[in-house]
Amino acid sequence: MSASLATVSYIGATILFILSLGGLSNQETSRRGNLFGMVGMALAVAATVFGPQVTAAGIPWIVGAMVVGGAIGLYAARTVQMTQMPELVALMHSMVGMAAVLVGYATYVDPEATKGFEGAEHTIHAMEIYVGIFIGAVTFSGSVIAFGKLSGRVGGKPMLLPGRHWMNLAGLIAVIVFGRLFLQAETLQDGMLPLFVMTAIALLFGVHMVMAIGGADMPVVVSMLNSYSGWAAAATGFMLSNDLLIVTGALVGSSGAILSYIMCNAMNRSFISVIAGGFGTTAAAPKAAGGAAVEPAGEVTPILALETAEMLREAKNVIIVPGYGMAVAQAQHTVYEITKHLREKGVNVRFGIHPVAGRMPGHMNVLLAEARVPYDIVFEMDELNDDFPDTDVTMVIGANDIVNPAAQDDPTSPIAGMPVLEVWKARTSIVMKRSMASGYAGVDNPLFYKDNNRMLFGDAKKMLDEVLVALKS
Ligand code: NDP
Repeated sequence: MSASLATVSYIGATILFILSLGGLSNQETSRRGNLFGMVGMALAVAATVFGPQVTAAGIPWIVGAMVVGGAIGLYAARTVQMTQMPELVALMHSMVGMAAVLVGYATYVDPEATKGFEGAEHTIHAMEIYVGIFIGAVTFSGSVIAFGKLSGRVGGKPMLLPGRHWMNLAGLIAVIVFGRLFLQAETLQDGMLPLFVMTAIALLFGVHMVMAIGGADMPVVVSMLNSYSGWAAAATGFMLSNDLLIVTGALVGSSGAILSYIMCNAMNRSFISVIAGGFGTTAAAPKAAGGAAVEPAGEVTPILALETAEMLREAKNVIIVPGYGMAVAQAQHTVYEITKHLREKGVNVRFGIHPVAGRMPGHMNVLLAEARVPYDIVFEMDELNDDFPDTDVTMVIGANDIVNPAAQDDPTSPIAGMPVLEVWKARTSIVMKRSMASGYAGVDNPLFYKDNNRMLFGDAKKMLDEVLVALKS
């Protein structure tokens, strides 16, 4: 393929990626957005493999790597459960980080890569390598820890070392000092030591940064690492002099940064305080780690599936609030069946989606779309939070932190200030979960003890199946 054809293909792929991002911002157009992304990526890979930068001798290696990588990807896509998606995404971010580190080292030791660079050009190229490896290493180790936290392999509690901010500052100064040494290095051997030291510091920094972040701040970390992986890809693009990789990396990096900003807003937190870490560790530490049972702080009123069905049948306005538990129970299809049945009977059923519900941005929207719940009855938190007082029944399905009134009522709560869905303002709220266990942030939920709240204990899928049978009988 000629250089000009490769350039045209790269421009085509860039346009497709931008269209893809545009499509993914809306549920109705997200399938089309995905398709654009897939076509764009196929075009990008084809233009790179058959482009002028790859020699014929390299093609069997690339094909071999694609077969192995493709087989692993296909296997993962077929076997991974919906509840494991967030950790899979974190793992993929770590791969991007690792790729940036490996490409950085390979570029540094490859005499061909630096051929023809003199003076300022040589310095810029060395800086690209140094910065690329730094971002890649932080992304890699940070994402591995995020993977551990999201999959429950690493505890959700923030790890706060004494003097942690000073440690980070010292690390940053060391990275700058070793960067200077790296740029001044005359030979390959001289440059290797500062590069190794910086990589080790960057890896530790990534681990430390994510370990210090706990509970409900994790959504920001996930989107932030998404952003980092984009910048790591852009850095790789600079090292390989590949324009498409630079543009694609910048697209991912900036969209991840925008998502982090949206997530911070959703939680009423400043980005700096999230990165500084330690949410949920001040005066009122969580009473239990996420998912663990907490001491009951009052009386709860249990309810049966039959009674729930009765209440739903008599209601005119119903709001359903899904959370992580709906994903665990895979209850979305039964939720749809119940919604369909109630709507046929003239009940106004709507869904309220919190921006950080579940374990990844848009988690609930994906599940509801999969179950074919119509988009026009699915609302963002802000769109329907004022409607709860006019609602007869709210059904909270496997959600906890996102409906916790302590966020508003208790200034000492670890989640104080986080906007929540005000389900308790409805005539009756029904919470479906298996036990009194806390949610991801490990905070007790006073909603359970309110007079107008009922607890439907059990697996959400099983309970909703019973509600559906009762509704239809
Ligand atoms: P939570 O984790 O707060 O609560 C989920 C609840 O679901 C649990 O209390 C659990 O209670 C219940 N549950 C689990 N399995 C089942 C089941 N099979 N049937 C019925 N119930 C079940 O989830 P929310 O969605 O309310 O809030 C999300 C939390 O995750 C927030 O703290 C958010 O910050 C955090 N987070 C979000 C990310 C994102 O990007 N969206 C990323 C990382 C973290 P029980 O065990 O008693 O059944």
